[in-house]
Amino acid sequence: MKAIYPGSFDPITYGHLDIISRAAKMYDKLYIAVAKNISKQYLFSSRERFLMVKKSIAHLENVEVVEIEGLIVEYALRNNIEVMVRGLRVVSDFEHELQIAITNRVLSDKIETVFLMSDHKHSFLSSSQARELAKFNGDLSLFVPDHIARELRKKYA
Ligand code: ADP
Repeated sequence: MKAIYPGSFDPITYGHLDIISRAAKMYDKLYIAVAKNISKQYLFSSRERFLMVKKSIAHLENVEVVEIEGLIVEYALRNNIEVMVRGLRVVSDFEHELQIAITNRVLSDKIETVFLMSDHKHSFLSSSQARELAKFNGDLSLFVPDHIARELRKKYA
């Protein structure tokens, strides 16, 4: 069975990587869809986000990174992907994630959304917090791998 994990990954964090490594064990193939959403403002370009994800997951054999501009559901249907993976950290994620899951279900009932609970070590962790820390030169070692921390520091140098 194939699954897809979509997100902005601006940038990818240890929280995302935890979800990815766990989902990769559950499914034969896991696609990571890096959003190329033109209406959203990102710190990193979609190419940069794509390359950072690719470098971070190079050790995982059944994981492939793709850049997607349109609807994830349509991409999934075209590629026989049956499961959409999302991560849940705290209760405040729930409403937003429920809206996305219901919208996707309306688009197609062939795709099932599966939520993985964040590991407690990562439940406080987000890309926006990593960006904020980087801006003020904070310690990023618990948030992102070293190569991502370097990219973040470059952006704010
Ligand atoms: P989006 O803009 O689609 O929310 P993100 O890159 O912020 O993209 O997140 C992608 C998915 O990963 C979402 O389901 C989000 O809840 C989840 N996620 C983000 N950070 C963590 C974390 N620390 N632990 C578990 N899941 C997370």
